Amino acid sequence: MELYDHPTFQMACRQFDLVADYLQLPDKDRDRLKFPKRSLTVALPVRLDDGSHRVFAGYRVQHHLTLGPTKGGLRYHPEVTLGEVAAMAMWMSWKCALTGLPYGGAKGGITCDPAGLSLAELERLTRRYTQEMIPFIGPHVDVMAPDLGTNEQVMAWMMDTYSMHAGHSVPSIVTGKPVAIGGSVGRREATGRGVGYLINRAMDLVGLDAARATAVVQGFGNVGAVTAHSLAKYGVKVIAVSDVRGGIFNPRGLDLPRLEEYASHQRTVVGFPESEPLAGDQVLLTPCDILVPAALERQITEANAPRLQCRILAEAANGPTTPEADHILRQRPEVFVIPDILCNAGGVVVSYFEWVQDLQSFFWTETEVVDKLFRILEAAFTQTLNLSKKQNLPMRWAALSLGIKRVHEAKRLRGLFP
Ligand code: NAD
Repeated sequence: MELYDHPTFQMACRQFDLVADYLQLPDKDRDRLKFPKRSLTVALPVRLDDGSHRVFAGYRVQHHLTLGPTKGGLRYHPEVTLGEVAAMAMWMSWKCALTGLPYGGAKGGITCDPAGLSLAELERLTRRYTQEMIPFIGPHVDVMAPDLGTNEQVMAWMMDTYSMHAGHSVPSIVTGKPVAIGGSVGRREATGRGVGYLINRAMDLVGLDAARATAVVQGFGNVGAVTAHSLAKYGVKVIAVSDVRGGIFNPRGLDLPRLEEYASHQRTVVGFPESEPLAGDQVLLTPCDILVPAALERQITEANAPRLQCRILAEAANGPTTPEADHILRQRPEVFVIPDILCNAGGVVVSYFEWVQDLQSFFWTETEVVDKLFRILEAAFTQTLNLSKKQNLPMRWAALSLGIKRVHEAKRLRGLFP
């Protein structure tokens, strides 16, 4: 399907093919598992503040419909394409299956630079996109959530637009919305908190003492900032972070509460007083115990994989490591990889909790949310690790195998259509 041609989609397909070979999946089943079931492209005319108007491209891809509604984030970024969105929808499928959630994967996006739009323009763009998506989504069809460049406010506008169309409030149409309108406590922190939990498990495994460990985080948005906080709570020293503008470094450890306050005013971490500047491309090569890519896909490549100087690579972003880099990392067993579909699964797990709470109109405490989150992540981590050890497989292959096998089995049981 050339429709989805994009380096990130090719990367997701290559990962799938490698695992399908390992699982000896019949050829006749592979295209059904790989290619998205449905996708929609929309043109979004939006009036700008200066009175002119501009047409943006928007996408939504629903990867498979076999296990329930589809679920996945909505991304606002200048480089969003249909192929990139399709890749992320596929990864969402394996992630939901790995963690046992009753969903297929989905992803959406709008090709735009949210930093270059006013709040009012962002609202009009979001409402226009939601309006166009109404025939394609629904609480039992496809449920969106925040991703790169989107946040709770964007989800609130989506929920409101959909609800006005329905004539009553439909909080279960999106997750990751503010708690005041039916969001779940603990959703905003869920992805980073899950990353922190799994890194803590990996530290035990490789014999790292948290109190002596150092971490570097690429990306200081929702996921990166919460991961940094979570690591600090375990006693880890966060020595470098970066965002799209550049990086900062302090070998004694960054003061995270002050950094967060600085970043919220300056809209960047660059220039934080108690730090030295670090070039963006040096961040991933900074010597540390724990390296957390939490920004974009395809950041760890064959060029920098041999030079990573970490003990744990925790993939908080989706698709940060290319298959070529993966090949190199397989020859570096001293680097323990927590693969993306496991590492950042905390987000979709608590999105699932939010959806369940909205459908039941019965809300849980933060303790309940966090306890259930850690139990699901623990089970997924243990199953992945056990398979990896038993079959001598890289952690990524083990995680993908578990997810792909479950979707394959569901398709076998249901028949040809979904
Ligand atoms: P965000 O928009 O809140 O933050 C993204 C951060 O990355 C920002 O600090 C931005 O400046 C930085 N960034 C962008 N380009 C960069 C570059 N080239 N180099 C360094 N930093 C760069 O997004 P987020 O929600 O934190 O998502 C980050 C990653 O985590 C994405 O891959 C996303 O798909 C993944 N993810 C997010 C969630 C979630 O719940 N939000 C869940 C699972 C996975």
